[in-house]
Parts: sequence; structure tokens; C-alpha cells
Amino acid sequence: MKTYQMLVNGQWVDALNNDHFESSNPYTARPWARIPRAQVADVERAVKASHRAFSAPSWAGLTATARGALLRKLGDLIARDAEHLATVETQDNGKLLAEMRAQMRALPEWYYYFGGLADKIEGTVIPINKPNTLNFTRHEPLGVVGIITPWNSPLLLASWKLAPALAAGNTIVWKPSEFSSASALEFARLFEEAGFPPGVVNVVTGFGSQVGQPLVAHPLVAKIAFTGGDQGGQHVYEASARNIKHVTLELGGKSPNIVFDDANLDNALKGVISGIFAASGQTCIAGSRLLVQRSIYDSFLKKLTASASTAKLGDPTADDTQVGPITTQPQFQRVLDYIEIAKQEGARCVLGGGRATAHSCGDGWFVQPTIFADVRPDMRIAREEVFGPVLAVIPFDDEQDALQIANDSQFGLAAGVWTNDIGRAIRMSNGLQAGTVWVNTYRSVSPLSPFGGYKRSGIGRENGIDAVKEYLQTKSVWFDAGNEVPNPFIIR
Ligand code: NDP
Repeated sequence: MKTYQMLVNGQWVDALNNDHFESSNPYTARPWARIPRAQVADVERAVKASHRAFSAPSWAGLTATARGALLRKLGDLIARDAEHLATVETQDNGKLLAEMRAQMRALPEWYYYFGGLADKIEGTVIPINKPNTLNFTRHEPLGVVGIITPWNSPLLLASWKLAPALAAGNTIVWKPSEFSSASALEFARLFEEAGFPPGVVNVVTGFGSQVGQPLVAHPLVAKIAFTGGDQGGQHVYEASARNIKHVTLELGGKSPNIVFDDANLDNALKGVISGIFAASGQTCIAGSRLLVQRSIYDSFLKKLTASASTAKLGDPTADDTQVGPITTQPQFQRVLDYIEIAKQEGARCVLGGGRATAHSCGDGWFVQPTIFADVRPDMRIAREEVFGPVLAVIPFDDEQDALQIANDSQFGLAAGVWTNDIGRAIRMSNGLQAGTVWVNTYRSVSPLSPFGGYKRSGIGRENGIDAVKEYLQTKSVWFDAGNEVPNPFIIR
């Protein structure tokens, strides 16, 4: 067992009460790491350190160019340690090493992009409608940003927040998921090495109720950037309102992947599989509702089932494994429960439908890739996020029908469209109520392109220039060049 400490004010510390919890490897279902179990007093200590660091000359006195250089240095260190970070992620969350490697190799791009953006955050000189007056805007950081992240892609999702928040000049208290704290603590060492002053980035580990809630409630925290489920997001939103905090919420989805009969069906097949079975379906952007045009419904379903049935389950560190375990025991049970609900509601199970018990799965928390056909849009399996390798297939007749079914959802995170008709692609991408629409591709993300949800999938945007604005507030500055003071009792 490896024992970790957490990072507060530039020091590696235990929780004040010296308590710990265990983190398990989802492939072996056995604990492998001891993580500090922080409480409200630890949050208090970290927020105060972060608050002091925000106005300390060592951080507040840096030029934006110097902040950008720190972020780019951090990117270099991540590139150096990508393999190690990927290994820790896989050990902690059970996702494929190949997937985690790809994420870690791409991760520096976020720090290069936002590091480059740091000194391009420009205000505006307003051609103000008053004589002899100069009016301009400045974009200033908010203060202490509380970052709360889930377990599925821990360092990627944290970086979507850390990079723009730091580029803008804020300081951080980060609470990673209780199920994936080890990689956050390994990662945090790099901030020190890159040269970030003490207290600028703090990591406090523990549970949502003992660390997340006090962080959200803390009056010195100016903003919460949260990724997680919509229920947790709603609590965070409500609690943030008490202190009028800024909030970004990246929540769940029930994203439609829509296949028309004119599409390149081989590509569409790969896109559908990547949308739901990659990462064992544990992605917010999972294409968990497959809408197939009725004219190709039977043949496409047959091909899909045949293809998905060959997916290789097993050790996430093995090069040929395609589907790994579910990250947490409670989530494993939740996925199995949803499969039973779908069966009871009358959905037709054409693949999988239970726990995977192949020898290659060992004692891990594996679920068979599962496909339900003939799903009605009113069934729970078509409406609620499962967050596992479970696909609901729904037939549709035409564009209008597809849009109606796709948009009949409380969520609106992403959508996929497969068609070779350019007019149809434009009409569909205009009509879909989702923050991201992929046409003839799926699961593409980049630091350059904004990402976020419509409806219950979230508020605010991550990535792209939009993201840095989420961590800034605008100040309007007025200079009077010596006009005569008019009547002081009348607004000027
Ligand atoms: P949760 O909402 O359960 O938890 C997310 C984080 O919030 C965890 O760190 C958790 O702590 C903490 N937390 C939970 N409740 C509160 C609260 N009331 N106040 C403060 N903090 C709280 O999500 P999961 O970890 O289960 O992650 C899966 C979910 O995340 C899915 O719904 C998925 O769609 C969504 N997600 C969204 C993404 C997006 O970009 N839109 C991307 C990836 C995932 P603890 O660790 O103790 O539970």
C-alpha cells in the first residue's frame, strides 16, 4: 500500500485528524493506496492559504507573460511524466492504459494553449459617449477557485479547469474524486517543480460531504468549477447561490448518436462503438442513445451486435484489451441495476445484459457490453444516464423524427450525426440541442474548441477562448480629463 499526503500551502501534509481512506484498483478490486481523509478544518486551512496566495506579490505581482511561462513549463513536465501519470490513473480508475496514455500525451496541449493565452487577455477602450473621457475595461481574476472533479478522466477534466483558471491569475483549491485522488496528488508535485508559488494550487482529498460541501460553502471561495453528475451539480449550484459564487457546471448526458441510411456505415459503426463501449461507457459524452433510420435498422443492428460481441475485456494495462472494468463498486452495481430496469421495462436485450465473468476479468468490476434494441423514448434506459457500457437503440423515420427523439431529453451535452448529405448535416447540427455536435466523427475534444452542456448537462464552457472568460470579471475604468463638474445631484 502506498500512503499519500496532500498539498496545502506548498507543504505535503496529512489530514489534521490524521485520518485516511483506501483507494481500490478496479481490476483487482483490492485497495492499493491510502489517501488523507480531509475534513472541514483542512478545507479551511487550504482556502486561507489559497486566499493569501492570491494577493501575495509572488503570484499577484507576476506579469501575465510570466504566468503563461509557468503554465508552459508545467506542460513540459507533464510530457516528461506522461507514462507515469497514465500508469497511476489506470491503477486508480481501471481505464485502459492505452486511453490514459493518449490523454496524458495530449494533456500538455491544455497548458501550452492557456499559457499562450495568458498575456492575450485584453481589455477594450470604449469610444464612450461623453466628452473628454477615457473609459476602458480590464479583465481581472476572481480569486480562489474551488475545483471539484469526478473519477472518469481525473487529470484531463481537472486540467480543463486548472489551465484557464491559472492563466487568468486565480488560485486553486482542488478536491479530486475520492475514487481517483492518487493521480491528482502525483500530478500536484509538478506545480511545485514548475515554480508555482506555495498556496497557488492546493489539493485537499476526501469525500463530497466532508470536503466538497465545505469548499462550496466557504465565503472566501469566489468560484466553483464542478464536473460530475447532475444531482451533485444541482447541490453545488444551490449551495453556491448562498454566497453568490460564480459557477461552471459540467454535468452528465444521454447523448444521441444518429445514423442515417446515406451514411458511410462502416465509419458510423466504429463511431457508435467508440461512443458507448470505449472507456466502458464511463464518459459524460457517451453516445448512449443510438438512433438508427428505420430502413437500415435491422441490418445495422446486426452488424453492430456482431462487432461489439468481439470486444476483448480484461486487464486494462494489456495492449489488446478493449473494454476495462467499471471504476467503482457502487457504479458497477448501478450499471447492473439499470440493465435490470431496462429488461423489466420490456427493452429487448440483444447483447450482454449482466456481469462479465470471463477468466480475463479476474475479480474486477466488469459489465458485458450490452445492447438493448427497440427501446421506446419514454423508457428509463433512454432517459437516464447509466455511465456504463449499455446502449439503447431507437428506430426513427426521417430528420424531423430524429430531431424530436434526440431533443426529447433533460440533457444536452453532445450528439453525433452520421450522413453523407451536407444539407442534412447542416440542418441536423442546427436543430440538435447539445453543446457539441459531431458530424461523421465522435468523441473529439481539443483545448481550442469550447465544450459544455445545454439544459441539465451544465452551465458555462470549458476549453477555447470562452473558457478563460469563465475565470475573469470585467472592470470598467473611467478617467475624466478635466471636465467642469456639473450638478452633483444628477447622474453624469
Ligand atoms: P459525482 O457528482 O458523484 O461527483 C463528482 C465530484 O463531486 C466528486 O469529487 C464528489 O465527491 C463531489 N461531490 C459530490 N457531491 C457533492 C456535493 N454535494 N458538494 C460538493 N462536492 C460533491 O460524479 P461522479 O464522480 O460519479 O462522476 C460521474 C458523473 O460525472 C457522471 O454523471 C458524468 O456524466 C459526469 N461527468 C461530466 C463530464 C462533463 O464534462 N460534462 C465529464 C465527466 C463526467 P466524492 O468523490 O466523494 O463522491
